[in-house]
Amino acid sequence: MIIVLRSKPDVNSYLEDCAKRRLKLPMVCPKCYGKTHHHGNYHRKVWLGGHEVILIKVFRTYCPRCKVTISHPPAFLLKGYVTAKAVIEQVIRWFRGNTPIRAIVRMLGVSRRTVQRYLKRCDQWLAAGLIEL
Ligand SMILES: [Zn+2]
Repeated sequence: MIIVLRSKPDVNSYLEDCAKRRLKLPMVCPKCYGKTHHHGNYHRKVWLGGHEVILIKVFRTYCPRCKVTISHPPAFLLKGYVTAKAVIEQVIRWFRGNTPIRAIVRMLGVSRRTVQRYLKRCDQWLAAGLIEL
């Protein structure tokens, strides 16, 4: 089960909160509303554009009643994407501002196909309130 953290949406605040151990995890099970407890973390890659790839911790909680592990990815990630949300939003803004795709490809160092994949999903993400332009 996945519950996106309602943390500040930028990468730096998240890293700082992790380092200072002040990240607030929801300690309530979304299924039974019982108390959960901390259940470790795992690492995930995040691509920030260009050659910048960082490793972040994603924390987990566990509900002993439902026997379910809940992971809490930060709000700057989209499910199934390594790319930080801010990068995807920038791609869409550039495209809507009439920046040619080949220029976007050059600026970010991504493939044309990746850019097209973001553009294809754009309306769906906007409708679901997952990205902001
Ligand atoms: Zn539960």
